[in-house]
Amino acid sequence: MSVPMPGAGPAAVGDLLPRFIRDVPDYPQPGVVFKDITPLLADGAAFAAAVAALADGQGKIDKVAGIEARGFILAAPVACHLGVGFVPVRKVGKLPGPTHAETYQLEYGTATVEVHTDAFAPGERVLLIDDVLATGGTAAATAALIRRCGAEVTTLAVLIELGFLGGRANLSGLPVRSLLAV
Ligand code: AMP
Repeated sequence: MSVPMPGAGPAAVGDLLPRFIRDVPDYPQPGVVFKDITPLLADGAAFAAAVAALADGQGKIDKVAGIEARGFILAAPVACHLGVGFVPVRKVGKLPGPTHAETYQLEYGTATVEVHTDAFAPGERVLLIDDVLATGGTAAATAALIRRCGAEVTTLAVLIELGFLGGRANLSGLPVRSLLAV
């Protein structure tokens, strides 16, 4: 299969991505169309192109933060690509050291994300990465966590933005880079 080489611009990767994202209707619950990125991860050239596009044009970045769990898979290679460190933002109770925590609203109930209190130095510039931007609740809580550490979130970069859910409006003006908007 012919795909753009790693380093292809975000626009070219946006054209490529639909071939590697599988829609799974009614997963994990009726009415949800789950965006399955495993076909993308399984294709070396497409995965590398997506990583390069997420890292592209970010300016000076000190750390890349990834949101558990699929965000880790994307953020870690982006951090390596940029030559900076990676920070995992985890679900509650998974990190061994002292943490900051943020709880946010889900459709039914709440969720909590955590980060080590010493994960960022004050003033560090952080690129935040996840696979999908849906309502924006997860990204907003994560951005708040990073700011509580004294660091600055420069951009949220995602593979896929579900525009009909209006996630950007919940991000208080945080710049969003999505490789594919649906
Ligand atoms: P949200 O907080 O609503 O923006 O949801 C974002 C988080 O939920 C991300 O970590 C995604 O991995 C996951 N997510 C939400 N909707 C979907 C979807 N349709 N397909 C795959 N993942 C999703």
